[in-house]
Amino acid sequence: MLNIVLFGPPGSGKGTQSQKLVEKYGLIQLSTGDLLRGEIEEGTALGLKAKSLMDAGQLVPDEVVIGMIKGKLDANPQSKGFIFDGFPRTVAQAEALDNLLEERNESIAKMLALEVPNTELITRLLLRGKDSGRADDQNEDVIKDRINVYNSKTLPVANYYKGQGKYVSIEGVGEIDEIFTLLCAQIDVAMMN
Ligand code: AMP
Repeated sequence: MLNIVLFGPPGSGKGTQSQKLVEKYGLIQLSTGDLLRGEIEEGTALGLKAKSLMDAGQLVPDEVVIGMIKGKLDANPQSKGFIFDGFPRTVAQAEALDNLLEERNESIAKMLALEVPNTELITRLLLRGKDSGRADDQNEDVIKDRINVYNSKTLPVANYYKGQGKYVSIEGVGEIDEIFTLLCAQIDVAMMN
């Protein structure tokens, strides 16, 4: 199994790149944001609770997203591996993920971190909001709150993986295919180990 954390602030291109990686490597993308939006669409109790937090740009509780990830790992024991997109977003989530993988004799191979400056993120997200209909992409204040949450709660996750020698920084500004090539080069190396 090859397990990759695709890391980066909101709007850094994690979703776009994950889809391309899924196609190329046959990995399963686990996006907690997509899973939560699925719950909202289905009108589940979990979705209902998550919605107000998501609309405000705040994180949903760790146990909620950890539970969703555990369910997906259990449901896909034969997978070639997973791309974790938008998870883990706190150090507690990163620790829980390590435990879940360890129980399955698996581990994270690498964290690939897309680096994009804040001004570019805001432009990209406002543009995406016009098409996606996502409430959290349409309001500049909410976007700024999400970036603040990222800086305070999520950036420490990069240090967690740096401590494990798994962190790799990737230039996240440029053509989609150029960035994809950078990611693939790292994954190809990870696959050889
Ligand atoms: P995303 O689609 O990854 O940008 O996530 C959209 C929103 O879902 C975030 O702003 C959070 O409110 C929530 N969310 C997604 N993933 C997580 C996570 N791992 N931990 C906590 N909240 C999350």
